[in-house]
Amino acid sequence: MTTVAKVIVDVPTMQTDQPYDYAIPAALTGQVVPGMRVWVQFGQGTREVSGMVVATEAQPDYAGTLKPLLAVLDYAPVMNSELLKLSHWLAQTTYAFWITCIQTMLPAMLKVDTVKTVALGPKPTAEAESLLAAHPGMVLDQHLDATLSAQVLRLVAKQALTIQYQSRDRAKVKTQNYIVPSLTPAAYQAEAAALRANAKQQRALLEALTQWAQTHTEPALTTALKDSGLSRATVNAGVQKGWLTLAAREIYRAPYAQLDQQPLTQPLTLTADQAAVVKPVVAAVESHTAQPFLLEGVTGSGKTEVYLQVIAAALAAGRNAMMLVPEIALTPQMVHRVKGRFGDAVAVLHSGLSEGEKFDEWRRLERGEARVVVGARSAAFAPMTNIGVFIIDEEHETSYKQDDAPRYHARDVVMHRAQTFGAPVLLGSATPSLESRARAEKGVYTLLRLPERINDQPLPAVHIIDMRDAYKQGGKDDFSQPLLQALQARLARGEQSVLLLNRRGFSSFVMCRECGYRVQCPNCDISLTLHMDTHTLKCHYCGHEEPIPTVCPKCGSRKIRYYGTGTQKVEASLHQLLPAARVLRMDVDTTRRKGGHEKILAAFGAHEADILLGTQMIAKGLDFPDVTLVGVINADTGLGMPDFRASERTFDLLTQVAGRAGRAEKSGEVFIQTFNPEHYAIQYAQHHDYEGFFRQEMVTRHRGDYPPYYFTTKLTVSHQNEEAAAKLIYQLAKQLHGALSPQAIVLGPTPGAIARLKNRYIYQLVIKYKHEPELGPELDRILTETQTGTRKGYFVGIDREPLTFI
Ligand code: ADP
Ligand code: ZN
Ligand code: ZN
Repeated sequence: MTTVAKVIVDVPTMQTDQPYDYAIPAALTGQVVPGMRVWVQFGQGTREVSGMVVATEAQPDYAGTLKPLLAVLDYAPVMNSELLKLSHWLAQTTYAFWITCIQTMLPAMLKVDTVKTVALGPKPTAEAESLLAAHPGMVLDQHLDATLSAQVLRLVAKQALTIQYQSRDRAKVKTQNYIVPSLTPAAYQAEAAALRANAKQQRALLEALTQWAQTHTEPALTTALKDSGLSRATVNAGVQKGWLTLAAREIYRAPYAQLDQQPLTQPLTLTADQAAVVKPVVAAVESHTAQPFLLEGVTGSGKTEVYLQVIAAALAAGRNAMMLVPEIALTPQMVHRVKGRFGDAVAVLHSGLSEGEKFDEWRRLERGEARVVVGARSAAFAPMTNIGVFIIDEEHETSYKQDDAPRYHARDVVMHRAQTFGAPVLLGSATPSLESRARAEKGVYTLLRLPERINDQPLPAVHIIDMRDAYKQGGKDDFSQPLLQALQARLARGEQSVLLLNRRGFSSFVMCRECGYRVQCPNCDISLTLHMDTHTLKCHYCGHEEPIPTVCPKCGSRKIRYYGTGTQKVEASLHQLLPAARVLRMDVDTTRRKGGHEKILAAFGAHEADILLGTQMIAKGLDFPDVTLVGVINADTGLGMPDFRASERTFDLLTQVAGRAGRAEKSGEVFIQTFNPEHYAIQYAQHHDYEGFFRQEMVTRHRGDYPPYYFTTKLTVSHQNEEAAAKLIYQLAKQLHGALSPQAIVLGPTPGAIARLKNRYIYQLVIKYKHEPELGPELDRILTETQTGTRKGYFVGIDREPLTFI
């Protein structure tokens, strides 16, 4: 008999980061299971918090008297045992609190501020019906009486009742008005007979209502008005007369419903290269082998078709499939292709969806109604069982790493789950991360390659334009003559062009030309970014916003100007240089609204523009047959970043964007404008030579003792008092030197590259190491020590394998 629930409480501190024992009240015996959230009293006072049951046991470990669980918050577990174990593993490997990991893994709709009500389930019983009748509008919260709660639990388990979730914020729930006929067809006929002869509109309404009543139809108001030609005033009059009622109903949240209507696409006949890649992965699916594969395939080599056929093989073997993509908003075509092949067996999870949409997709996965998930980083936690294959597309992308606690990499999560399920992992990229490519070199991953484009299309010719000369030869604004001429030629032929403005390490800011003053955030040591659409300056870290100044706040000069090549400025000069060209701009400003990316890409696909101008977000996954020219306006900006991955990032970006040209029958051309034409990242990108870049970059990394030769861990300390933060980081550096072997290298301490953020001062150090068994325990100790009472006000953050060092 289980009488004790082990609960992780929602109190994210080091001291409380462990399960607490609570007594399961008699009324709930046998119904509280791991994975359910509960409501408990915590600590000495009367503080009540939510928590997650991670285990149930017959005997408590705690010797004192146990407090009882106050209430259950879930009527069915929201995490199965695999996901609970995963949450624990995540906490241990990322040095985050267990409760933080649990919350990260659950959809936002499952937060305490969601209102839960009950309705009849798929297998209604008389008991369920009388319970609903006796408690109309019953809300399932911590105030619900325990006996009632137990009854609901039992009926939910039997599917006699089902739980409905609703965001407390009604505005988030999408509703639509429906017409509900109130009378019988005969009664409508009687009403019609009593009408005055000239009441045409009302007669028409009664005829429509008669039909709806006969066919038991409750049409949506907007469609009904449109189809019948009735006016809203007539409908209102009908409500007044008691002929009908209007019911506001939640619209079913199916984000890609329009895709589900289309016929499914058929698998393509694989090329010999593709078949050679698919074969070993499918073999691993069928033999339940947790083998990692790295697919290195040039852009346009047909990686997506490989993914689709591997997923099909998993489904055929009765197993489910997970596919991760960098940011879905940026790669809508990928969603379309997966949905196009597998229809509504696919659930989509990403941050562009509303919370309700995400939750509905999440539940379809949890119930096994959807068998394939396509999603961004957090979809790695999708509540699926029996996963037969994991795919990570564009595996080198930095968006797979989360910046805040828990600082996890989706690749690590997937590798861990693959072990649990006995499933292969397929990592794909045209430019694999150095870490992954090095693992393939050592045989840890099996290397698979697609070196050729489909149909033997050559990779586009890449021209490097030395901007140091270009200006002398009459280049205008941001455009060199050759790029301008190439654009003109495309316009003349009715072909399309893509222009990339590289904004990495670069932002638009406001500076005074007299005194050099830059407008800074008052809370963070960072320049404010210019937003032309709202005519304000904004801090991208804390959200501070202020109007653009017209005089310098420091010296009073009027010569305060905008700096930085923004997309708007380039767009303006394009209009001047090529007045006939139709330009679509894609950047943070034009894509802020939901679905913004898709709209722009659809318009470009429909030839509503000749040129697509955008930031990094256009570099990924686009497949437009009529794009024959890609121009990179400024290849260099990222190279100057104080980051050992600067070359890799630049190479990746140029290779990816160059891959957008000439993907169909017409051949493509690429122009890269740069002030560093001899830099190896640019040279190898010119020749589409990933392997060459990999060899040379490995030499550089070896020389600098950087990953993949070394592991790295970043430790940050922040405090409102700068001296306090500095003092602690120096003490921790000393402590680490003492605990680690002489082979470990501690870089710093240094002030963070952004030395102050949200009014906290930041100091950091980076540990480079090869094999340090003492590091993990030492970091745990540091976290515990820096969280005790005397150390108030410190934040200590640990980031394993950080992707940024600033
Ligand atoms: P990648 O993902 O490697 O960039 P894609 O999967 O987008 O490449 O493939 C490039 C193009 O080749 C797409 O238009 C795709 O439909 C087509 N393609 C892929 N595989 C085949 C095949 N076996 N036969 C015919 N066309 C294919
Ligand atoms: Zn700020
Ligand atoms: Zn000034």
